[in-house]
Amino acid sequence: MSQPLDFDATRLPSPHMSESHEAWRQSVRSFVTREIAPHINEWDEAGEFPRELHNKAAGVGLIGLGMPEEYGGVKTGVDVFHTIIASEELARAGSGGLIAGLMTHGIGLPPIIALGSDKLKARIAPPVLAGEKLIALCVTEPSGGSDVANIRTNAVRKGDNYIVNGEKTFITTGCRADYLTVAARTGGDGAGGLSFLLIESDRKGVSRTRLKKMGWWMSDTASIHFDDVEVPVENLIGQENAGFAGIVTNFNMERLTMAAQAIAFARVCIEDAAAWALERRTFGKPLAKHQVIRHKFSEMVRQVNASAAYLDHCAWQVREGQSPIADLSLLKVQATRTMEFCAREAMQILGGAGFMRGCRVERIYREVRVMAIGGGSEEIMNDLAARQMGL
Ligand SMILES: Cc1cc2nc3c(=O)[nH]c(=O)nc-3n(C[C@H](O)[C@H](O)[C@H](O)COP(=O)(O)OP(=O)(O)OC[C@H]3O[C@@H](n4cnc5c(N)ncnc54)[C@H](O)[C@@H]3O)c2cc1C
Repeated sequence: MSQPLDFDATRLPSPHMSESHEAWRQSVRSFVTREIAPHINEWDEAGEFPRELHNKAAGVGLIGLGMPEEYGGVKTGVDVFHTIIASEELARAGSGGLIAGLMTHGIGLPPIIALGSDKLKARIAPPVLAGEKLIALCVTEPSGGSDVANIRTNAVRKGDNYIVNGEKTFITTGCRADYLTVAARTGGDGAGGLSFLLIESDRKGVSRTRLKKMGWWMSDTASIHFDDVEVPVENLIGQENAGFAGIVTNFNMERLTMAAQAIAFARVCIEDAAAWALERRTFGKPLAKHQVIRHKFSEMVRQVNASAAYLDHCAWQVREGQSPIADLSLLKVQATRTMEFCAREAMQILGGAGFMRGCRVERIYREVRVMAIGGGSEEIMNDLAARQMGL
C-alpha cells in the first residue's frame, strides 16, 4: 500500500537537511504533540495560551534557536534550516496564532541583538530567551503599515531621555509583552529619521488595548498608545536615525519563516482533506475515488511542491550569507497563495464538516488573510521584488 497523503508525505526531501536537522524535527514534533496539539482548540476558544508555554518552549531550545549563546541562545551547529523546521513543526498543530504569540521574540529581539549595545543585550536578551519575559515588535501605525518610512510616532531628546508620543497598532503580543521594540521618528522625514527604542511596557504613559480579530485568536494583538513616555537614552537600539536598515533586515527572516509556516499549513490542509476523502463515501464510493476530488489533491500537492522547492532555494541563499530580497518577497507571495488555495480546496472537500469549529482546516482558512497581509502584504512584496529587478 502506498504511504498515506499525510503531513510527512507532502514534504519534499531537501539536499540541505542533515541528521542534525532530522533529530531537531523529532524533538520539536514531540514537544508540539505533547504540549501544544492537545490544547489548541481550547486555547483558541479562550483567546489565549498559558504564559508558561514560553518557559517550556525555551526548555526545549525553541526560543533560543539561532540566538547568541552568551545570552542563553543555541547557535552552534544551527542554521536557517533548523529555524524552518521549527516553523513547520509548530504549524503542524494548525494554529498560526499560537506561532505568532509564542515566537514573537523572533521579530522583537533581533534588532536588539543586531544593533543594540552590549549593556542592552545583556539586560534584555537572557530573560527573553529563557521565556521569562516577552518582547513585541512595534512598527505598524494606524496611519498605515506598508509605508514604513512614514512612521509618525516620535521620540524627542530631552536631557538623558527621549519623550515618546504616538500610537502603534496590530501589535502581536502587545498586551502581554514586558518589552516593546519600537520604531520611532528621532529625526527628519523619511527613512533616514527613524530609530529603534526599547520601551518597557510598564513605563508611565504606555497604554494598551486588545483588538478582536478574524483569526489568530489565541495571540494577543494590541493597539498601543505612548503619551509623553520617558525613555532613557541608553534604551536607544543602535545609532540614532539608523533604524530603517534594522527594520528592513528584520523583515527578511520574518518573511522566510512566514513562508515556511504557510507551506506547512497547506500540508496540514492536504493531510486532513485526504483522510476525510478516503473515509467519506458519496454516490457509493469514497470521495477520493471521484476524479474531480482526486484532481484537487494533485493541484494542491503541485503547488506545495513548487513552493517548498522555492523555500529550499531561498533558505540556501540565506545560509550562504546572501540577502535575496526579491526572492524572499516573491516566496512569501507564492507560499501564502499556496496556503490560500489549499485552505479553500481542503475546506471544499471537507464540506460542512470543514465549516465547523475545532477543525484545523477551519482555523487555517480564517488565518489565510493575515499571512498574506502581515509582515509585508502581497502588493508590497510584488512591488519590492519588481523594484529589485530594476523596474
Ligand atoms: C494579526 C496581525 C498581527 C500583526 N502583528 C504585527 C506586529 O507584531 N508588529 C507590527 O509592527 N505590525 C504587525 N502587523 C501589521 C502588519 O504588518 C500590517 O497589517 C501590514 O504591514 C499592512 O499594513 P496595513 O494593515 O496598515 O495596510 P496598509 O498599508 O494600509 O495597506 C492596505 C492595503 O493596501 C495595499 N497597498 C498599500 N500600499 C500600496 C501600494 N503602494 N500599491 C499597491 N497596494 C498598496 C496593501 O498591500 C494592503 O493590501 C500585524 C497585522 C495583523 C493583521
